[in-house]
Amino acid sequence: MRFISTRGQTAALGFSDAVATGLAPDGGLYLPETLPQFSTADLARFEKLSYAELCFEFLRHFATDIPSETLRAIIAKSYTRFTDPAIAPLKPLAKNLYVLELFHGPTLAFKDFALQLLGNLYEHQCATRRESINVLGATSGDTGAAAIHGLLGKPGTAIFILYPDGRVSPLQERQMACTGAENVHALAVEGSFDDAQAALKEIFGDQEFRLRHRLSAVNSVNIARVLAQCVYYLSAWLRVPAGERANVEFVVPTGNFGNVLAGWLLQQMGVPIRGFRVATNQNDILYRMFTTGEYRVGAVLPSLAPSMDIQVASNFERFIYFAVGRDPARVREVMATFKATGGYRFENFDRGTFSASRCTDVEIPGIIQRIHRDYGYIADPHTACAFAELNPERVNIVLATASPAKFPETIQAAIGIEPTHPSLEELKSRPVVKHRLAATPAAIRAFIDAHAVN
Ligand SMILES: *Cc1c(COP(=O)(O)O)cnc(C)c1O
Repeated sequence: MRFISTRGQTAALGFSDAVATGLAPDGGLYLPETLPQFSTADLARFEKLSYAELCFEFLRHFATDIPSETLRAIIAKSYTRFTDPAIAPLKPLAKNLYVLELFHGPTLAFKDFALQLLGNLYEHQCATRRESINVLGATSGDTGAAAIHGLLGKPGTAIFILYPDGRVSPLQERQMACTGAENVHALAVEGSFDDAQAALKEIFGDQEFRLRHRLSAVNSVNIARVLAQCVYYLSAWLRVPAGERANVEFVVPTGNFGNVLAGWLLQQMGVPIRGFRVATNQNDILYRMFTTGEYRVGAVLPSLAPSMDIQVASNFERFIYFAVGRDPARVREVMATFKATGGYRFENFDRGTFSASRCTDVEIPGIIQRIHRDYGYIADPHTACAFAELNPERVNIVLATASPAKFPETIQAAIGIEPTHPSLEELKSRPVVKHRLAATPAAIRAFIDAHAVN
């Protein structure tokens, strides 16, 4: 399988190169050149597989440049650190309502599904190319922790994660800064997330530095992340009774559109899913898009569901590619208009499949209370946003993207219970090892020069 850029101005690559490259050189995002089609017989065969086997049966259509047995081993290893035997358990809450729990990985949020796999793909790449890799990213929350736990202790790799000092939650900081691993560097920068981002952008623009350290970016646009996420949609759909499957609507707490895009791509591969609900918090660019057709940037308002606090949804360009008839010239036109004017109006997109809801901070505690009262279930603030609105005509599968134990203050304030998790409790006894740095390219470069693996 080859991977093409949404903007069509760069050569197609094989899977391993597309994964190593991340963002395409023309500024576009990689997508598979064609989408495999799964038949009814394929889907029936998939029913009996374990999560890791299902993941292999899915990914082997894409990762065609990795030998089968190697790919199988990489995948098996990627899901060993999940604590629930089902990996992504599907729990019934009421008639026509399920939650798909995606928070049983090492950092208790759904990003582990992709970043455990990505870490092992990087490790495989280092081994086959006999090269080291230095991974660099800036985070305001869950991504940094999940990326760190994907690379923890892996030979030939080092990871540097920048975050604004004092502006991530204490538990999130502990997940990054208490690992004890020598290849992990938690860099607490003075300034805001945007300052850290700007410094990173300059560092990645420095070709010589980037090549010298074989720097790779952690971000939400890597194609391996999207493909890894398709698998839990497939796994959940297969666990619903056969007679209900055609009526399934996935309800997805959404920020950068990476999660819901994975489900939609699976539908395009022939899995008969009825629909998707894009559930945003008060940062509602995608809610406005799917209700009006107008994609227009707004200001970011910090919220109780911080991992969905985005201004522009970085993965949305992949959906745009399909919405404009797979025409890269039109994608470039849309992105240029969006850049110049801050907005774009779509005339036709898949309206039959998508619906949307939004949820403000004022509503979140009440929703957490209601879910607890009606179903005896504790939802984290991101998952709560998804419960804002459900379609009673559908079989709803709500994606639970984080463990409530990551947000004890919000849950305590809503229902008077403070959720805990043994892995978070254990972190509290470990020393925090972080490096304070100025948010300047010079300070960050000097740190990397001193600590990179070569
Ligand atoms: C990252 C994240 C989201 C948003 O996912 P996208 O793929 O950016 O849409 C939602 N909930 C949690 C807990 C997250 O960490």
